[in-house]
Amino acid sequence: MYAVLFDIDGTLIQTGGAGQLAFAEAFASEFDVHELSGKVPFAGRSDRAIAFDLMRLHGVPAHEENWRRFRTRYLERLPGSLKRRQGLVLPGVVALLDELESLDHPLLGLLTGNVEEGARHKLSYYGLSERFPFGGFGDQSDDRCQIAATALNETQRAAERRCGLNGDSLSGVMVIGDTVHDITCARSIGAVAIAVTTGNTPKAELVAENPDLLLDDLSDATPLLEILHDSMRR
Ligand SMILES: [Mg+2]
Repeated sequence: MYAVLFDIDGTLIQTGGAGQLAFAEAFASEFDVHELSGKVPFAGRSDRAIAFDLMRLHGVPAHEENWRRFRTRYLERLPGSLKRRQGLVLPGVVALLDELESLDHPLLGLLTGNVEEGARHKLSYYGLSERFPFGGFGDQSDDRCQIAATALNETQRAAERRCGLNGDSLSGVMVIGDTVHDITCARSIGAVAIAVTTGNTPKAELVAENPDLLLDDLSDATPLLEILHDSMRR
């Protein structure tokens, strides 16, 4: 049993900045912060880590109660901001998911810094949510590697559900993402790391992290499928 875990923003979809818009609206209405500092990086990080950094930077007490207030407001704003920003499903994604689903036994899951409900809003809007029954999400930790550990546990549970406790155990995991953080967290769980340059990370930064495979996008996923077939044969 093999599993493929996908990052969301910059890997499966681009939302045209809908997530950042919902962040900004939530900070404005909950904490009266009307212009968010550009100093906090979003790409590849968990929503919790981003929100806490922004709170600290804008003098908002960074504690659990404020996280809950932020999260509620963010999730309320996100569906509207998805409609107001022009985004897209990235090239090759749907064909790759179709191909993976037609293979023998790969499990498809998520490994993302998005809070789970936010991930579901984004993927539902772009018609992809049903493809991913489980995953690791940004509600669970500030730390992407910790989220990866949770995603791995969920993957093992999904493998048991698929095969029964005495069936094939999980033989390998592949992680696909668009940032250095995706590569790092893939390594932290012993997964094959596939990087795509469809996000905002410069190609040279991804190359420097030495992923197992680097693709310009997923429109020709042949090399990825070759790695997958090799791993599934082992
Ligand atoms: Mg990403």
